[in-house]
Amino acid sequence: MSRGAPHHGGTSPESREAPFASAREEPSDRPLIWIDGELVPKSQARISVYDHGLLYGDGVFEGIRVYGGRVFKMRTHLERLFASAEAIRLRVPHAVEELERIIRETIAANEVRDGYVRLVVTRGVGTLGLDPTKCPTPGVFCIADAIRLYPEEMYRDGMRIIVARRPRIPAQCLDPRIKSCNYLNNILAKLEAIDAGLLEAIMLNERGEVAECTGDNIFMVRKGEVLTPPEEAGILMGVTRGFVLELCRRLDIPCREERLFVGDLHAADEVFLTGTAAEVIAVSAIDDARIGEGKEGPITRRIRELFHEVVTRDAPED
Ligand code: PMP
Repeated sequence: MSRGAPHHGGTSPESREAPFASAREEPSDRPLIWIDGELVPKSQARISVYDHGLLYGDGVFEGIRVYGGRVFKMRTHLERLFASAEAIRLRVPHAVEELERIIRETIAANEVRDGYVRLVVTRGVGTLGLDPTKCPTPGVFCIADAIRLYPEEMYRDGMRIIVARRPRIPAQCLDPRIKSCNYLNNILAKLEAIDAGLLEAIMLNERGEVAECTGDNIFMVRKGEVLTPPEEAGILMGVTRGFVLELCRRLDIPCREERLFVGDLHAADEVFLTGTAAEVIAVSAIDDARIGEGKEGPITRRIRELFHEVVTRDAPED
């Protein structure tokens, strides 16, 4: 049923730029990239066309925020990286402490105070066949750059999103907790959003339950209670999701995990998304149904404001 959603979430092709685009006006050879033990200018940071990370999307990664020079939830991100690697039987060729050093070194080399880190471990160079055991040395690189957020007005007015027709790959086929370099399922769902002039899409699992968005976790508010799909819905266990649940407890806002359907979201008082890049952002409409008042609701605002207060004051690195 259409409830006449306002159109403030729609985007022109120009404003549809990925949030990961380098936001700095800098010589094109920056930032310096940490790759296999060296910091090199961007144009020299290359990997082999025989790397299975490229040939098959065989690798894992993390996207991490830097706030005021502090690496937000670095330990949690690195734990997830190791869990992802273990799940695909990829040996990370560094200890956690070494990866921390690599991240800090890359941030320092590029003087990033507020920005974004992308840490990637690929299967490495192998033969043209799938066999990962033919790739003796994993590849590692780390990027630290500026990050462009969604347009500011979207944080105030909320974001329009759609429900993708394409479901998430079932967990028996590919465990969604693995943050792998293979994002085609999500990219194809994202293209559905882009075709609709929007930036994000909800993905359902094979049972028709709400799982998450293409690059964000999803939450709703019903009668003052914050709800989000559980791990069993088939989601990436987002670091921001975990932090937001922590913030709800601090704010004394009841929160819990619950199986959700699109009808629940449509009937919600508020819906919002969380992610490293998106942080906390309200949803104003899903498909053509307006959510709540069609703008950021009061609980989303309290959570978003506390989130910003905490990360700008003293972003936790654990
Ligand atoms: N789900 C998916 C599919 C994602 O790619 C992301 C972004 N990493 C998230 C959820 C949000 O996770 P996080 O808060 O750890 O960035």
